[in-house]
Amino acid sequence: MDKIFIMNLGTTSFKFKFYAFEGENCDVLATGELESVGAAMSHYEISYPDGRTIVDDTPIADHGAAFAHCFAILQRDGIIRDLDEMSAVGYKAVHGGNLSGTCLVDDALIAEMERVTPLAPAHNPIYLNAMKDIRKRFPGLIQVARFETSFHGSIPEKRVTYGVPYQWKEELGIRRYGFHGSSHQYISQTVARLQPGARRIINCHLGGSSSICAVLDGKSVATSMGATLQSGLFNNNRVGDFEPFCLKPIMEHYGYTLDETLNILSKKSGLLGLSGVSNDLRLVMEAADAGNKNAQLAVDTLCDNILGYIGMYAAYLNGLDALVFTGGIGTNSDVLRKKVCENLSYLGLELDEEKNAQRGDGIISTDTSKVTVWRLKTDEESVVAGCVREFLNAQ
Ligand code: ADP
Repeated sequence: MDKIFIMNLGTTSFKFKFYAFEGENCDVLATGELESVGAAMSHYEISYPDGRTIVDDTPIADHGAAFAHCFAILQRDGIIRDLDEMSAVGYKAVHGGNLSGTCLVDDALIAEMERVTPLAPAHNPIYLNAMKDIRKRFPGLIQVARFETSFHGSIPEKRVTYGVPYQWKEELGIRRYGFHGSSHQYISQTVARLQPGARRIINCHLGGSSSICAVLDGKSVATSMGATLQSGLFNNNRVGDFEPFCLKPIMEHYGYTLDETLNILSKKSGLLGLSGVSNDLRLVMEAADAGNKNAQLAVDTLCDNILGYIGMYAAYLNGLDALVFTGGIGTNSDVLRKKVCENLSYLGLELDEEKNAQRGDGIISTDTSKVTVWRLKTDEESVVAGCVREFLNAQ
């Protein structure tokens, strides 16, 4: 049996799923989430498949301490005997630069992640700190990273290349990488199972962080995020695609440094910046309904952005068999799905309004629609866990 602990790390959050693989079987033994990591007091919840949930508060200094704490609880609750029983820990790691796929966390991997940290400054340091700390605390434990860029390795070169001097690409790796690979891979595999004839798929992963991916025959052929997680669709509080020549006038007018400007573009832009209301689409929609014009503009701009990518990707795919909405926004907002889909009749797409208003996984297009529209919950950790297991088996 392989027991694999998968981690998904945010600045102050630590989410995990603990898997047991036996032959073809895969069980989730525990899931957990810690909030306010690094604060005076952290809150945590750990749940087991039998319905038991442990909820408590305790000080957790960092992500290494969070892992140690969760491991101690799982041990106390009889889910795992000792560290030797854990086959590996796996990370849903973000930017691996020249490294892609599933890789052992070793000195070379750490060095490459450090090298490309300027391209993922909000994400790579968190993973690097956790990897180094866990290595120190548990030296014998195998650590494996599955990079979020991995699924996009199949995008043709012409589509990952920017119109910049070629040596920037060679020397600095300035090119499109794409992210949310685990989610796009999960959706691609799920649609392949549920709708076997669907060769051309567009997946809209819309949540706290959003990207769109075009999939042809199970392989990513285009995605909206680029060299960093800042480009493409505008996100809840990130700018998305933006004109670099606007940086200078903004800095000159407001007296901002480059770092201050980039901070605004990455943390105070998107839905939040445009609406001035919130980075949560629910609140922005509420404000729009109450007559807030900027909130309405933010909602309209987001939907229009999504529509534009769908159009571009339908062109890349030369048609469309399946359109998927996933992520917190994609699965929960029937209003957003309707606003996007009502402009896609040129593809022969017909939304079934009754199905769209329901919840849970399923088809939300009419029986006669030429494009099947899906509302599907993603499961990124299961993809990472499967990849880590495959990696271990190949050793
Ligand atoms: P993350 O990218 O952090 O994993 P999720 O995919 O869970 O985030 O998405 C969280 C986001 O989903 C929230 O920021 C919220 O804006 C949005 N969301 C959740 N429910 C709804 C809803 N009913 N309508 C619109 N947006 C929603």
